[in-house]
Amino acid sequence: MADKPNLRDLSLEEIEILIDGLGKEQYRARQIMKWLYANGATSFFEMTNLSRDFRDQIAASATIKEPAIRHIQASRDGTKKVLFGLADGQAIESVLIPGRNHWTACLSTQAGCAMGCRFCFTGSQGFKRNLLPSEITGQMTMLRRHIPEGRLVKNIVFMGMGEPLANYDNTIKAVQILTSDYGLGFSNRKITISTCGVVPMITQLGRDICVNLAVSLNATNDETRNELMPINRTYPLAELLAACRKYPMPGRRMLTFEYILLAGVNDSPKDAKALANLLRGIRCKLNLIAFNEFPGSPYRTPKPERISAFQQVLLDHHYTAILRASHGRDILAACGQLTGRGEHLAPAQGIF
Ligand code: SF4
Repeated sequence: MADKPNLRDLSLEEIEILIDGLGKEQYRARQIMKWLYANGATSFFEMTNLSRDFRDQIAASATIKEPAIRHIQASRDGTKKVLFGLADGQAIESVLIPGRNHWTACLSTQAGCAMGCRFCFTGSQGFKRNLLPSEITGQMTMLRRHIPEGRLVKNIVFMGMGEPLANYDNTIKAVQILTSDYGLGFSNRKITISTCGVVPMITQLGRDICVNLAVSLNATNDETRNELMPINRTYPLAELLAACRKYPMPGRRMLTFEYILLAGVNDSPKDAKALANLLRGIRCKLNLIAFNEFPGSPYRTPKPERISAFQQVLLDHHYTAILRASHGRDILAACGQLTGRGEHLAPAQGIF
């Protein structure tokens, strides 16, 4: 017999079809979604506005499963790295980054990553598999359950393990659940999908859904970018930037370009000037991130004065160029450092 579907992997329309097959009214699907996401139900027994018979019926046809929190590790700067165990034994990590009164949640979309960016610890660990929608939204629902009252997650960034656009359908389904009023009700203005540059899927994303886009750029010429990011050999800079120029940005939204500064590789004032020229005419902001060294990494963190000089060139060219404080460095929770192995772990209880 085939496995029962996990309701958390299904869209509203798919739950409607399931319920229709059980001879029930479609509006019940919205009630179930609200139980799953707004109320955080983990079993059918909690869905008290559904009849006992209907709950038994649907429990016989479907399950409710979420990833389990295995460990939470706290950084000195307040960042939390959360290790999740998946049903097949794989592990993934999410990061909660503290703001003044809120958290930003950084979610994973794949176990491992196949993109092989050379500055990235996650990439150096190889690819395991795509995450299911329930494993993507489940990071959020579980994190919310463990956050103390009064401090909300306001922003969601898909910058954890994996390339979101290489797990496109499941990522989009997860975003739809995160942003729908019958799901978690996040504003799409508060959701950012980050990509290393999977050009056809950037175009597709712009057609399918309205979320913020962040592009991990890191170089201003194909030679350097080919070396740092193998995806550039398939979709070189000119194609990537053409797709960026066409990406729809309603209102005052801006694209984000992330630029990891690697000592002696891409961090000179000349590189900064080339970057300013390359992005001319694109409504964007730049996040500059000093490289986070990891065990065995081939690159080094630039000196602070080199970073400041790079930033200054961009400011002089009237760009918004923010030097991102890299959160959670001491626990390998910073950009590109997630491995799903939960290094130096503390137990899950009592950390928040
Ligand atoms: Fe994958 Fe992103 Fe790391 Fe590149 S930077 S290897 S896309 S996780």
